[in-house]
Amino acid sequence: MSMNAHARTRPPRLPAGPMARAFLAATALAPEAQPPRFTDTPRRPETARSRRCMTPGTYVRLRRAKAGWKRSELAVIIAATPGDRAAIEEELHAIEADHIIENRRRVAQIADQIDLDFNIYLTLVGFAQDPESELPCPRICTGCGCTWDRPCASKDGLCGWRDNETDRCTACPPALD
Ligand SMILES: [Zn+2]
Ligand SMILES: [Zn+2]
Repeated sequence: MSMNAHARTRPPRLPAGPMARAFLAATALAPEAQPPRFTDTPRRPETARSRRCMTPGTYVRLRRAKAGWKRSELAVIIAATPGDRAAIEEELHAIEADHIIENRRRVAQIADQIDLDFNIYLTLVGFAQDPESELPCPRICTGCGCTWDRPCASKDGLCGWRDNETDRCTACPPALD
């Protein structure tokens, strides 16, 4: 088969230019050419709360700060030997900075110490790995990381939400922004 015979079996090429580009654009945008996308379904009304889910690292950091632990102090109780402490402290820093999105083993080790809800941590990991997830975002105080099942306790009782607009509990000062 010659090159010319082979070329004739192909569909005619559209001439390059505005018409061809318009045809290609129309083909690409034809609704029936695309399978229905999950994101085409109507979204819940967007609020300040639903816009963005807290990252797992921020959640761990807030809970640690609330519990009054330093990363170095946690490293001391986790480390099997003193020689492991520096590496574990580095790892905790990477977890809190979201350089490590998921480290179940390490976070499980400190969950009780810093009063962290491990299921919420896992939910946030899921969001970080799939930002388009349709799962509801857990409501977490941006000041201290408390949640409905881990409220702050004070002499006045347990904390609640300051208002419906922000994720701030009554034990924390209002957010500045
Ligand atoms: Zn709070
Ligand atoms: Zn609280």
